[in-house]
Amino acid sequence: VLRLESVRKTFGEHVILHDVDLDVPEHTVTALIGASGSGKSTLLRCANLLERIDDGAIFLDGEEITDPAVKEDEVRRKIGVVFQAYNLFPHLTVLQNITLAPRRVLRQSKQAAEAHALGLLDRLGLAAKARSYPDQLSGGQQQRVALVRAIANEPRVLLLDEITAALDPELVGEVLEVVWDLKQQGMTMVIATHEMAFARDVADQVCFLADGVILEQGPPAQVFGAPQHERTRRFLSRLD
Ligand code: ATP
Ligand code: MG
Repeated sequence: VLRLESVRKTFGEHVILHDVDLDVPEHTVTALIGASGSGKSTLLRCANLLERIDDGAIFLDGEEITDPAVKEDEVRRKIGVVFQAYNLFPHLTVLQNITLAPRRVLRQSKQAAEAHALGLLDRLGLAAKARSYPDQLSGGQQQRVALVRAIANEPRVLLLDEITAALDPELVGEVLEVVWDLKQQGMTMVIATHEMAFARDVADQVCFLADGVILEQGPPAQVFGAPQHERTRRFLSRLD
C-alpha cells in the first residue's frame, strides 16, 4: 500500500532520514521503534506530506505522492494520522469532530456521516459521549475518538505516532485495544511506539531506527528475539 524509496529528509545541515526504504504491504502492521530522536515521527510526517522530502519518493497504491502535481489533500484523506495528543478540535463535539471530514471531503450527508460515526462510537462503547466536548473526556477516551475520526475517512493506511505516550498508564490499554481491533479488521498501519511489548505482539514487521537509518527490519520474533545489530541489542536491553 505504502512504499518509501530512498527517502532523505534534512533540516538545515542535519540529515534526519538517510535514504530510507520501507515497504508497507496491505493489511499489515509495521512498528517503528528506536531511541528518541531517531526519526520515527519525521518518517511518519513525511509519509503524510506534512514534511517535504529532499530526495527519494513515496508511493501510495503505486502512485507517487511526492510528485508535486499530486494534490496533498487527497493524499491526506487516504493516509490517516493520529498523534500523541491534541488531536481533537476542542470547540466541536465528539460527533462533529468525527463527521467533519467525511462530510466535507467524502461529501457524505449529515445523516449518513452521523449514522456511520455513531456506529463506530458504539463499537468502542463511546456512543454516550457523542455530544460531549473533548475536554469532558478522559485522555484515553479522547484518543479513541481520535482513532474513530481517522478511520471515519476510510483511509488506505493509518499512521499512529506515540498515541499512548501522553496517557496515564491505566488508560493505555483501552487505546491499544482499539488498535488491535483495527488490525483484526485488516487496517494497514504504521505505528511509532515506545510500547515494546505491544509492538512485538501487534506488528507484522518491526523497523529499528537509529540516527535516521532503518538499521534492522524483520518480523518481531527476529528483531526482538534475535537482533542482528549490536545497537538493536543495546537499545532493547536498556528497556528492562
Ligand atoms: P521521539 O521518540 O522522541 O518521538 P523520534 O524518533 O520521533 O523521537 P523525530 O521527532 O523524528 O524523532 O526527530 C528526529 C530528529 O529530527 C531529531 O534530531 C530532531 O531534533 C530533528 N527534528 C525534528 N523535527 C525538526 C524540525 N522541525 N526542525 C529541525 N529539526 C527537527
Ligand atoms: Mg516522535
